[in-house]
Amino acid sequence: MTSAALAVAAREDAATEAVYDAIVIGAGISGIYQLYRLRQLGMKVRVFEAGTGVGGTWYWCRYPGARFDSESWSYGYSFSEELLKEWDWKEHFSPQPDNLEYLNLVADKFDLRRDMQFSSRVTAAHWNDAANEWTVTLESGETASARFLFTAIGILSAYTLPRITGIERFRGPSYHTARWPHTSVDFTGKRVGIIGTGASAIQAIPEIAKQARQLTVFQRRPNWAAPLHNAKISRGEMEEIRGRYPEIYARCAQTPGWFIHQPDPRKTLEVSPEEREAFWEKLYAEPGFGIWMGNFSDIVVDEKANAAISDFIARKIRSRVKDPKVAEKLIPKDHGFATRRVPLETGYFEAYNRDNVLLVDVNETPIEEITPSGLRTSEKEFEFDMLIYATGFDGVTGAFDRIDFRGPGGVRLRDVWADGPRTYLGQLVEGFPNLLMVLGPHTARGNIPRAVEHSVEWQTGLLRFMREHDYTRVETRPEYVAEWTQIVIKAAQRLLSWKVDSWQTGVNRNVDGRSVRRVLGYNGNGVHYRRKTAEVADGGYQELVFR
Ligand SMILES: Cc1cc2nc3c(=O)[nH]c(=O)nc-3n(C[C@H](O)[C@H](O)[C@H](O)COP(=O)(O)OP(=O)(O)OC[C@H]3O[C@@H](n4cnc5c(N)ncnc54)[C@H](O)[C@@H]3O)c2cc1C
Repeated sequence: MTSAALAVAAREDAATEAVYDAIVIGAGISGIYQLYRLRQLGMKVRVFEAGTGVGGTWYWCRYPGARFDSESWSYGYSFSEELLKEWDWKEHFSPQPDNLEYLNLVADKFDLRRDMQFSSRVTAAHWNDAANEWTVTLESGETASARFLFTAIGILSAYTLPRITGIERFRGPSYHTARWPHTSVDFTGKRVGIIGTGASAIQAIPEIAKQARQLTVFQRRPNWAAPLHNAKISRGEMEEIRGRYPEIYARCAQTPGWFIHQPDPRKTLEVSPEEREAFWEKLYAEPGFGIWMGNFSDIVVDEKANAAISDFIARKIRSRVKDPKVAEKLIPKDHGFATRRVPLETGYFEAYNRDNVLLVDVNETPIEEITPSGLRTSEKEFEFDMLIYATGFDGVTGAFDRIDFRGPGGVRLRDVWADGPRTYLGQLVEGFPNLLMVLGPHTARGNIPRAVEHSVEWQTGLLRFMREHDYTRVETRPEYVAEWTQIVIKAAQRLLSWKVDSWQTGVNRNVDGRSVRRVLGYNGNGVHYRRKTAEVADGGYQELVFR
């Protein structure tokens, strides 16, 4: 056969449609576990993943400094005793290479790869009412059908670039933190420019600063950040942690955010200033999210309480940054502490004390364009060998918007969700039969793998129920979708975070049409969410319609 004929044959092969019981989109933490459970139900499953391997976030985000801010031993899967015995976390907040190794181990251990297809971006998913199934189309043109479609496409997977003229003109290498090369990037002797100061930049900046000749940070909006206090885990300590796994997971199930941190029920201003200060000093010196999740619970709802903790963190920043002018630039003035997801850092503020690090506030001197040799602000021209975009994600709905989902009658999900998602429990989508979301909008999130395990188990429970009753189609009921949507909106709007633009409130100035706040997650108590979902399952899913 000639190569042209071979290519035609390959295209025809790709065009023949494969049929599965279930299709899962995405092979991160969510997709891996969803496949594992569906296979246990005896289903024929196909996972389509855009990347060349498993891992999701931990496959894509390989920038220097990338690591958990969940305690590693509270982040891993809990479903397999064997896996818990086999895997040793090496650090309390594990770095990206280890996290990727862990997820590859899970894929291999449970022989999951044979049902996964990599380099396979799903571009469309259309419901066929007559056949009662979903047909997905890949970028390659290949199609596949299944009765059930699971989205495991990530809340932070659709990355965004800034809207700056000339991005394509820069001659040196440029990287987005969420599309980092698979080989290491050497900054030695380089002049590096980094745009953005969100969570990824806060992890990357101290690491890059150690190597680069000059690092210039372009900041539009500072973020509150607090120390991670990472440490290695010795063998003995790992054994001790292993012995506590049941207790750790039980604790996570009992906290609002599914982390190990339990909020303090006292009201901030009812505690004496001395006691308050001592409590905050203790939290600030401790590892992890205690300063956020283990703080007085009213810091996220009460303006005065929030102002007090913000003042405490601001004082910490001033004490860590030598130049008072730089310190002031690093202190957020437009939102309070914990009203956006709090990045945890290791030497972030001290990085600005180095001679080779410069902070540029783009509110004072906006970036006008990227040039072939660097960039130009309203003040001056900067020359760089390398540019880094740490400009984050089109959060939560971004990955959904990038797939042409069509329900019965060709209705587009994007249109239905134009003013905000409408779901039942964040698990099923109104008007879209047999579409189940792992970590979709309006579900509880917090410590993500805990949410993922809960969601996957609830969904596989639903499928087991359908099989027992010979049902092939499940849909939401409008009154329960309306009720859940109201619960979610109310829970979000009582928080101070609702008054702040962030990826969590759906605002991203780099994306068209994303300038109005939307409620994207269930911000109520994770314990209540568990109870609610369990009640629905125990009651025989009467809130859903089956056929
Ligand atoms: C830098 C960083 C650090 C984080 N740290 C923490 C932490 O410490 N604790 C915590 O709880 N959470 C953390 N998160 C959130 C993190 O995203 C989750 O912990 C978790 O990895 C989500 O897993 P997932 O499988 O749901 O999504 P992802 O890991 O995002 O995986 C989704 C997968 O779907 C694929 N996909 C998307 N669209 C398509 C498509 N159309 N076709 C085919 N494939 C597609 C993507 O390629 C990706 O591989 C962090 C996120 C980032 C970005």
